[in-house]
Parts: sequence; structure tokens; C-alpha cells
Amino acid sequence: MPLDKTGLYFYFIAMLYIKRGNLFQLLESLLGDYRVFVPSRKGDSIAFTAFGETEEDYVIGEFRSFEPLKAFYFLGREKVAVDFSPENPRNDKPPCIVGVKSCDLKGLKILDFVFMDDESGDPTYIKARTEGLIISSDCTKAAETCFCTAMGVNPWPEKEYDINLSEADEGFVVEIGSDKGQKLVDDNLALFEEANEENIRSREFNRESVKQHVEKSVRKKNIPPVERLQRVVRKYYESDVWSEESVNCVECGACNVICPTCHCFLLYDQKSESSLGRYRIWDSCMINDFARVAGGENPRNRLWMRFRNRFEKKFDYFPSVADDIACTGCGRCIAACPGKIDIRQVLAKLGSLR
Ligand code: SF4
Ligand code: SF4
Repeated sequence: MPLDKTGLYFYFIAMLYIKRGNLFQLLESLLGDYRVFVPSRKGDSIAFTAFGETEEDYVIGEFRSFEPLKAFYFLGREKVAVDFSPENPRNDKPPCIVGVKSCDLKGLKILDFVFMDDESGDPTYIKARTEGLIISSDCTKAAETCFCTAMGVNPWPEKEYDINLSEADEGFVVEIGSDKGQKLVDDNLALFEEANEENIRSREFNRESVKQHVEKSVRKKNIPPVERLQRVVRKYYESDVWSEESVNCVECGACNVICPTCHCFLLYDQKSESSLGRYRIWDSCMINDFARVAGGENPRNRLWMRFRNRFEKKFDYFPSVADDIACTGCGRCIAACPGKIDIRQVLAKLGSLR
């Protein structure tokens, strides 16, 4: 692979390019088969909106959305049975999510491990994941709370997408990542052109500068290297860090709800005049009653125990069972916490113990 004069590698292999206007034309054509969602600016945040419903300021690049991607596949509240008969799978059009960031693709990988199991998987989740489309995109900026590189994630998608968009000049360099992505391009070939060297160079330059920006912020926070995280969390399981760092927690559960990898849920029944509905809602392991059993005992009846459990699950349990850390470095929990608890600080404190 050749090096250019800025020291960056660039590729001579033919790559595709789509102009911004053509991308929106492509999305328009998908509306018949998919529910299409695109990130758009909402004040200081970026949030997904249904494509084409209103005039929106769409943001394909920049950084991850305010809300986690799980909300499209695993609803916050969902009816799963009526009169004890399953309601699944839901029969709506599959989602096509545009502008999915690399950290959220890692989040989906964790949810796939949980919900796509052959025997006990969730039919609605499986349907949305297998029939849906993912049009991912490179980050062109990083939020103050981003620390993806510390979790082994680059700020650009490398796999698990159908097509990927990298903002360059007045459009996007396009990479195809699946058969579905290939078909999408083949069916709409007139909207694409060949990417030129300038487009590719611009993509590589952006990737390297965003990565350097995140790495600089990670270094300042002293987060232990990703390969040490499981060992550190396990070794200091009995340390005072858990009680010290959880002191400002108000048990709101926002960190769980906003997290792209948290997936615990609660089932409850609700009777109407004609039927009995069973609902599934997101649950939070930070809340006192989360682990309480029917006899009234609570194995995690202290706040610091619940706080420790959240870290133990992400950095020790998941690497053991799924060979992957259940944290993407998206930083959403930092932004959402009213107690200003910062996961980076907790990890740094654990990493500094001797
Ligand atoms: S968001 Fe913060 S205050 Fe709320 S439960 Fe999580 S750690 Fe506690
Ligand atoms: S724990 Fe925090 S930083 Fe990690 S994936 Fe969840 S919300 Fe993102």
C-alpha cells in the first residue's frame, strides 16, 4: 500500500463515492421497504429521526447519537404476549439505520450475543437484525466523553455494516460490507461513481485525525489498556473504589438505560377489560430492587455492590462468556449521569491501585 506525502496510507483499488444529494435519493427509494432513520441535530445533541417526515438537519458524520441504537431493536416497553400467547415477532417494516457509528456496531454485537441465541433468542430482535439495513459512517468529530479507542474500537466502522459512508468533500466514500450492501449498490448503481484519490486521501486524513484526538483524551484520563481491564476489575473486586466512586449515585438508572450494551429487562402483566397483556420493559441493575428475590432477600442490597456489579458484568463477565468487553467507549453514561460519575475515572482509579 503506498504512502502519500502526509505520511498516510491511501488505496488505489476502485472505491465508490456518492454525492450527498444522491444519498438522500437512495434513502428515499428505501422508504417502501424499510423504516429509515437518520441522525439529525437536536440543540447540542444528535438524535435519530424518521427520514423524510420533516425538514431536518441530517448529520451523517460527527459523532454518536444521544440515544443508543438498541432502542430500534429492543424497545423500551413492548407487549410480548397476550393472554399468555406470544406476540412476537412484531410485524412492522425492518429498520434501516443510517449514520451508525463504530462504537454502536460493537454495542449491537453484544446485544446479538444476548438476543440472537438459537434457543432462547428474541424473535422481534432477530427479525429486525436479519432483515434490517445498517448504513454506518465514520466519526468526523469526537465528543468530550468519547473513549472508544480505549475499548479497542476505532472511530470508523470496520465490519458489521451493510455499507459504510466516509464523509469526503461534498459526499461520501462508500464501502460495501455485506451481500445486502452489495445488492443495494447494484440496484442503484446510477447514484454512485468511482471515488477519486482526493476523496480517499480526505477519508484517511479524517480517520487519523479523529483517532488521534480520541487517543489524546484517553491518555489524559489514564484509562488502563484494554487487555488489563478484566484483570484490574477482578483483582480489585474488594477495593474501596466501588464505595468511593458510587457515593454521588442517586440510583436513577440512566447509565443503564442509555447504554448500548445494557440489555436487562423486566416482565410485568397488565389487565385490560378484554385481555391480559405481558409487557417487557428495560430494567436497571443500579436500582435497589433489581436483584431482590421473592422471599425478600437482596444479594446486592448496598449501592456500591450494585455499582460494582455493573463494572463486573461489563469488564469481567462478558469477556469470560462472550470474549468481548461490554463497553463501547461511547461515553453516554458519563453524559447522562446526574451524579457526574465518570466510568473513565473509575477505571483509571482501579488501574492505579497497587
Ligand atoms: S446514571 Fe449515575 S446516578 Fe444514575 S444510576 Fe447511573 S451512576 Fe447512579
Ligand atoms: S458503559 Fe457507558 S461508555 Fe460503556 S457502552 Fe455503556 S454507556 Fe457507553
